[in-house]
Amino acid sequence: MFDFRPVGVANLKKIHPDVQHFSTDLEVSTGFEILKSMELRKEGAVLVACPSCGRADVDVRKLANTVGDLLRKTKTPIKVAVMGCEVNGPGEAKDADVGIAAGVGRAVIFRKGRKVRIVAEDDMLSALMEEIEKAEAEIAPPVNAQAAAAERPQD
Ligand code: SF4
Repeated sequence: MFDFRPVGVANLKKIHPDVQHFSTDLEVSTGFEILKSMELRKEGAVLVACPSCGRADVDVRKLANTVGDLLRKTKTPIKVAVMGCEVNGPGEAKDADVGIAAGVGRAVIFRKGRKVRIVAEDDMLSALMEEIEKAEAEIAPPVNAQAAAAERPQD
């Protein structure tokens, strides 16, 4: 098991330089995010976001924070991307299970780099969450479906 202690609070502050005072909750949640990003913790969503650039059509940081709040209770190990433009976003985040690439007044929802929906800006968060739910069902099928599969006779 990975021993998180050597990382230390000082190094966490390098990750969040704008944070003056770490609370215990923030230290723990930051630690979990590091472990998830290193694939050492297989529980909960990993949120990735593009760094934004001159091509960005939206405030990527704001959108990523909103999506992060929506994913807070997700237990499935799913990678979700928030990208700032629909031209490059899906390709740059093709390793994400599900992603959103925001354009002007609309957004592309993609899975593993493949565009699956184009939706109006007002619907983009609900559409993203629908695709995340579908992907979660594929990654971690509901318990009843797992039990039914286990009971199916083998050839
Ligand atoms: S996804 Fe678009 S906005 Fe984000 S870094 Fe790439 S090119 Fe720039």
